[in-house]
Formats: sequence, C-alpha cells, structure tokens
Amino acid sequence: MRYIDTHCHIDLYDDPAEELSRAAAAGVGIVAVTNAPFVYEACCKLASGRPDVWVAVGLHPELAAKYAHQVDDLIRFLETTRLVGEVGLDYRVTDSDTHNTQRDVFARILRACDNKGNTVLSIHSRGAEADVVSMLGTGFRGTAILHWYSGAIGHLEAAQNNGCYFSINASMLASKNGTKLVSRMDRSRVLTETDGPFAKVDKKRARPLDIQHTVEALAKFWKVESEVVQSTVVANWTSVLALD
Ligand code: MN
Repeated sequence: MRYIDTHCHIDLYDDPAEELSRAAAAGVGIVAVTNAPFVYEACCKLASGRPDVWVAVGLHPELAAKYAHQVDDLIRFLETTRLVGEVGLDYRVTDSDTHNTQRDVFARILRACDNKGNTVLSIHSRGAEADVVSMLGTGFRGTAILHWYSGAIGHLEAAQNNGCYFSINASMLASKNGTKLVSRMDRSRVLTETDGPFAKVDKKRARPLDIQHTVEALAKFWKVESEVVQSTVVANWTSVLALD
C-alpha cells in the first residue's frame, strides 16, 4: 500500500469493482465509508478478498432523520468492523429540528463506539464543528478522523489536543482557508481522502486514484518530496490502526 484514501464512497460509483481494482493496482488503500446502515453489507461484499479496503458502517448526518431507526443496526454491525463512517453533524444544509435528531443519532453512535473501545471514525462536521468537538470530548475511547474539516482554528486545535486526526483532500489544498487549516495540523495527524464521487477533481468526480494529486499538492505545500508525504500518511494510517 503506497497511498491511503480514508474517505471514499466506493458503493456510489457506476462500477465499484472496477474502481477497487484500479485502486489496488496503484497501491491505494481505501476506507469505504457508507451513508446508511442498510448498504453496509453490500459494501462488504464488494470489498471481500481485498486486504487494503476497510468498510466503514455509517449514517450520514444529512440522512440521520430518514434512517434514525437504523441506528441499532449500525451498532450491531460494530461487532464486525472497527471502522465507522460517514457519521457526524451538518448544520449547513439542514433545519434545527433535524439538528436535534442528528445529535441524538450521533450521540448514540459515539456511546456505542466508546463502549467498544477501538473504533476508527470518519466524521463530517460542516457548520457543526463546535458540537462535534465537544461531543467527542477529551476521553473518547476510539480514534476520530475529522474529514474535510472547514471550521474555526480554535476547534481544530481543541480536536487535535484531544487526539483527533484530519483527512484532507485536493479541494482543501486548493483553497486559501483550507491551506490555513492544514498549516495548523500536526503532520503526524494528517491523512488523505478523496471524498469521491462527491468531491470533484478537475471538474470530474473524484476517484481513489486521485489521491495521488492530493499527495502531490501536500508535498508542494509542506515543501517536501511526494515520497515523504506518501510515507508519512501511510505511517499515520498504520498508527491509527495500531491504536487500541
Ligand atoms: Mn463523504
């Protein structure tokens, strides 16, 4: 494994098997996040026999109201995976009623993860960074990865002090605010992601192979060789998996 895409919706491509094969051939490991518990098992089938694909069970905050009744399923699936995502809160595109439901759902998921102890979560926090960071708190027994973080520097620093990791993508490195945030992240806490197929690279749907662009952009930003970024990020991912 030479690269890691810690946040990719592999089940939402036209031909997921083809994407997975291409990624494997290029040495790209993938955390296949899911948006609702009912798609988790199908995603596991897609990934079966692929050692560098980790399937995460999730419930996207924008779907939390619709699938709140599936939280118990998600918690049951924690018996078969340590990876959880996409979960979190989104206050940007939803109304305040939905925010309450989102917080209930996220709190139940966090409690179950805390009980299990060694989970790794890919967390969405758009417009809700303060609540995400405070709900995780200081003693969460698991590893939180804040995906595509776009909030205030203060919450980023609080999250980092509490042990959070950050997965960054090409869009973040192409924006002024994104690079300002990345500059505050400790290099030992940085992971890479595409958020494909939702995110765009060169106006096209991002694919796991595009992680190479992120690595190159990060190398430029850190003023190091691409190989240094590659090995740093893979080492960071290895240490996430080694945490208990
Ligand atoms: Mn996503």
